[in-house]
Amino acid sequence: MSEQMERIKTFIIGSGPAGYTAAIYAARADLKPVMYTGMEPGGQLTTTTEVDNFPGYPEGIDGPTMMMQLQQQAERFGTEVRIGMVTAVDFSDEIGGIHKVTVDESKVIEAETVIISTGASAKYLNIPSEQRLRGGGVSACAVCDGFFYKGQEVAIVGAGDTAAEEASYLANICKKVTMLVRKDHMRASKAMQHRVNSIDNIEIRYNTEVDEVLGDQVVEGIRMVNNETGEKEDIAVTGLFIAIGHKPNTDIFKGQLDMDETGYIITQAKSTKTNKPGVFASGDAQDKIYRQAVTAAGTGCMAALDAERYLAAVESKEILASS
Ligand SMILES: Cc1cc2nc3c(=O)[nH]c(=O)nc-3n(C[C@H](O)[C@H](O)[C@H](O)COP(=O)(O)OP(=O)(O)OC[C@H]3O[C@@H](n4cnc5c(N)ncnc54)[C@H](O)[C@@H]3O)c2cc1C
Repeated sequence: MSEQMERIKTFIIGSGPAGYTAAIYAARADLKPVMYTGMEPGGQLTTTTEVDNFPGYPEGIDGPTMMMQLQQQAERFGTEVRIGMVTAVDFSDEIGGIHKVTVDESKVIEAETVIISTGASAKYLNIPSEQRLRGGGVSACAVCDGFFYKGQEVAIVGAGDTAAEEASYLANICKKVTMLVRKDHMRASKAMQHRVNSIDNIEIRYNTEVDEVLGDQVVEGIRMVNNETGEKEDIAVTGLFIAIGHKPNTDIFKGQLDMDETGYIITQAKSTKTNKPGVFASGDAQDKIYRQAVTAAGTGCMAALDAERYLAAVESKEILASS
């Protein structure tokens, strides 16, 4: 083995709720996991102030503290947490084969199992006022943050099924939802369009985009622009929800793992198994439906259990073959 080469049992890629939960289970099963954190140690929740819906925190908790606690819990059982980006993978097709994972384009690590928990990134409009007020009223998750706007007026940007779903979710909680649709029609299914159209407190504005988010420390309103007439209009809202899609962080696995058309890793039913033996996927990288911390943690647990069972099966075959 070259000086650069290290062989481990379980390599965890990513340090969000899925990765840390996988780490807790894998470490307790003595798989001696090594985790690489990636560019966002702690994952998406480090970008939010208040997490109110993760079980076990009756008063809620701020995202960075919660992720710090998950890290401490994973380290308590012996997880080795390292800073670094996985830049390439070479997954084996063989049962019991060794997977090669490249970190920071230089260090190659050999792993008997790999747990992918690289998450997904919400797409934003990328206008300066929106970026400035992220976490101050601009959110990419209605299910996570809608509750904070109970009884208030909010706006949502998007035209697909998720946007329609989130608009109706918000309409249940908020006084009024203004939905901004860039084109003169929605992309959402007819059924979803029918649903939003039939809700009294949703107002749909077609051919309309956000020109600017108004407010200094927190969102106080938005300036809308009609992209046909150029006409601008300000409305007072306390929350702006961006629902224009997510991008799973799975580019480095392209060509090796089965994915859907948007890049979500496909796992086998009721498991975290991918199409490569010994490679498991958890969290938002394989879930375009729920995308919550608790569901990510749940699949992280599943991935560690799947990895443990896979290693036990490989080992028992090796013992049989050698006896
Ligand atoms: C603003 C905001 C607020 C939210 N609020 C809530 C909430 O209140 N409640 C809730 O349940 N959910 C909330 N969510 C959703 C929740 O954060 C996600 O569902 C959850 O974090 C997904 O966990 P994950 O472990 O799959 O991935 P992520 O949290 O996305 O973590 C992915 C990890 O992978 C790493 N990574 C990516 N690529 C690489 C690579 N090549 N090499 C190494 N590492 C890599 C990243 O650095 C990161 O550590 C919120 C999301 C956002 C954006």
